Amino acid sequence: MVVQHPLIEFDCSMDSLEPAVIMGLLKKNDSLQEEALKIHVSYIADECAKRFKPRGVYKLFNPTICTLPPTYTEPAIKLVGTMMVFKGKTVYDRLKRATHCALLSVTLDSETVIDTLREQLCYNDFDSHIFDACCAMMLERAADMISAEIIRVAREKTLYTDERLCPGEGDLPLNTRDQILFYTQAEKRLGIHLTSESEPVPRLSLFGVIGMYDKTQKGRRRACGRCKYRDYCSIRAVGMNCHGDKGSFK
Ligand code: SF4
Repeated sequence: MVVQHPLIEFDCSMDSLEPAVIMGLLKKNDSLQEEALKIHVSYIADECAKRFKPRGVYKLFNPTICTLPPTYTEPAIKLVGTMMVFKGKTVYDRLKRATHCALLSVTLDSETVIDTLREQLCYNDFDSHIFDACCAMMLERAADMISAEIIRVAREKTLYTDERLCPGEGDLPLNTRDQILFYTQAEKRLGIHLTSESEPVPRLSLFGVIGMYDKTQKGRRRACGRCKYRDYCSIRAVGMNCHGDKGSFK
């Protein structure tokens, strides 16, 4: 029997963005002193954090290897109970031993909200660079937030996880976004749609998949020290981890 997992909506709002990280993303601007730049960046970052309401949605599926030539002549992974097929070696290598995977879609906010705030905050190209850096960082953080939540859910099921894989990485085709959008209902839930070239509208949207593995795949260890989800990790916050140190996973 195919188990149907629920679709989960997730609020990725955040209180603040660290100006130091955004400044690291900007090209040096000699016309502004370091302190003045920090104040300027902080102002735009604070407004972005206050005004944007990033949201995401995820759903668990059970992947399986496609084994029906001649239909599937390349390595491919199918999601049980759906028409979704992942193509390419990158995703095949990630998911061929996974028992579950999570599809996720995230968006920063609507184009209207983003454009309105841009108009209010940006008076020159440099302001626009700062604004773009803040938007990109917020989207990435929202995706990290939902990824941390997926890892928490996996751990509850005593499953190990891998890094988030997004369309466009390795040989995973960009048009995989179309299927992730469909199976996470991201159009209805988040208001995202895709152009004929699979470009998202709102542009600041992101799609991905995270593999989940049973304890036979314990070798896929993560490390808290270099984990990009650690700021949002509720597992580590209670003194545990997701990567199975002795005693953590039975
Ligand atoms: S911070 Fe550690 S426990 Fe948390 S998701 Fe990352 S690797 Fe896992």
